[in-house]
Amino acid sequence: MKRQVSLEEISDGRLYSRKDMVRAGCGGCKGCCECCSGMGTSVILDPFDVYRLTAGLSCTFEELLVNKVELNVVDGVILPNLKMKSISDTGKAMSDTDMTGTVTEEACAFLNEEGRCSIHAWRPGICRLFPLGRYYEKEKRSFRYFLQIHECPMPAKTKVKVEKWLDTPQLSRYETYINDWHYFLEDAEMKFADGMSDDDRKNANVFLLKLFYFKPYNTSEDFYSQFENRLRIAQETLF
Ligand code: SF4
Ligand code: SF4
Repeated sequence: MKRQVSLEEISDGRLYSRKDMVRAGCGGCKGCCECCSGMGTSVILDPFDVYRLTAGLSCTFEELLVNKVELNVVDGVILPNLKMKSISDTGKAMSDTDMTGTVTEEACAFLNEEGRCSIHAWRPGICRLFPLGRYYEKEKRSFRYFLQIHECPMPAKTKVKVEKWLDTPQLSRYETYINDWHYFLEDAEMKFADGMSDDDRKNANVFLLKLFYFKPYNTSEDFYSQFENRLRIAQETLF
């Protein structure tokens, strides 16, 4: 989900690459699960998130849609996001007070009774990133990272290397994929907004959902080559 805000308002004013040190270390998030509650529809899942979740949980995308994931329109494109549950359904107290004193009523469906992530090893990319964000530099069709300074309330954060924080194997390939996916979605968005009929837009959205999410990935094989094949099909079909 893109945000049109000035970087100065929400960050320390710096942009980071994977080899840089950034003050994001939260000391294991002791006693805190604030970024796992009250996020609405903002934790959007990309195809690699679904590959990782379906492999880790031995399930299909359809099974995730039963109660853990939902579909929403994001900038004109239908995409999946983590579903929130009433906090009472997660086994925690009816409402939760976060470190800033704000009462939240809903939390991620993967948050367990102890207030910990029940899918830590397979958590989505956005969860790995937080409190970092991605800043896309459109002219270069690339991105760098930034530190969100108002989102995580843990005091005295420690310095950590960005690549360690992201905890993602083959990070260079992952970053290439994230970039390709982002700019593909941006191109699709422009195409959908550019005089397409409602029916054509709906059909194109269904086509993309099936191609990138519903069609199972072979989870015993490399994700990135499967994604590249699907991306080529999508580009040839849409553009
Ligand atoms: S808000 Fe910060 S400290 Fe709390 S769980 Fe998220 S990353 Fe950890
Ligand atoms: S998947 Fe895990 S880390 Fe991400 S929001 Fe849900 S509980 Fe939190």
